[in-house]
Amino acid sequence: MDLGLAGKVAVVTGGSVGIGLAVAKGFAAEGVDVLIVARDTARLDAAQAEIAAVGGGRVAAVVSDVGTAAGCDAVIAAVQQTFGGVDILFNNAGTGSNETIAEADDAKWQYYWDLHVMAAVRLARGLTPLMAKRGGGVILNNASICAAQPLWYEPIYNVTKAALVMLSKTMSTEFIKDNIRVNAINPGFVLTPDWIKTAKQLTADTGGDWQGYIDTLAKDNAPIGRFATPAEIADFVVFLCSARSSYSVGSTYFVDGGMLKTI
Ligand code: NDP
Repeated sequence: MDLGLAGKVAVVTGGSVGIGLAVAKGFAAEGVDVLIVARDTARLDAAQAEIAAVGGGRVAAVVSDVGTAAGCDAVIAAVQQTFGGVDILFNNAGTGSNETIAEADDAKWQYYWDLHVMAAVRLARGLTPLMAKRGGGVILNNASICAAQPLWYEPIYNVTKAALVMLSKTMSTEFIKDNIRVNAINPGFVLTPDWIKTAKQLTADTGGDWQGYIDTLAKDNAPIGRFATPAEIADFVVFLCSARSSYSVGSTYFVDGGMLKTI
């Protein structure tokens, strides 16, 4: 299937590791020029080299915190300077939380609101005019199954990811007039380096069987019985951002191995 992506320009926030890195590699393989964004310079540099090794599209990187207005402005400026415009925005930078509602302070709520919601608002405000100039574009927001099926230990994550899903729906209606399609995905368990680190920490005192921990978690929660690989999510993302998905507007797609317990 020709995805029709060659020559497009994509911004991937959180593109230095995990799902974002896999998506950036997937885009590059299709001939897309990719700008990856993250805060840690060393990890970003390593990712840039890894994506470049895929061949296909060009790759650039910008060190930036998309949880701030200045950080989003830097991304908007960088993609214009480097590639002269943009066609695709994959809002992916994000992270889990761990708190109770009774104990978390306002600053923590604000941090996650800025990272999961305002980054998407600010980048859309800056990038949709550039997309419109090129005749249209795609915004895909990476939310989480937790937007619909919460995990008890991370209320702030659940709430801000649910807000991101509503933002996607609302944006989709506003931006489709400029031929900009907006959708969201809700992944389930995806085996990223961060999950492996967490599993290693949680099993360190009990023999270190982190793989066993991951397997049990998947078997207990996802009917498919395993975590997704980042590449499995990336394949779906690359398709949704392509011309082959041209009638998908304002939807949220679960990619969760059957983990969602409702219809
Ligand atoms: P990782 O923790 O592996 O990677 C997160 C990426 O985001 C890194 O590149 C990180 O780089 C970057 N990042 C984090 N904060 C910021 C920031 N303020 N500004 C710029 N970049 C930032 O995450 P995953 O690949 O696991 O997850 C990616 C997305 O997918 C997240 O939004 C997550 O909520 C979502 N998701 C993940 C699931 C999973 O099981 N893994 C399941 C469902 C959803 P740096 O730290 O250097 O900035």
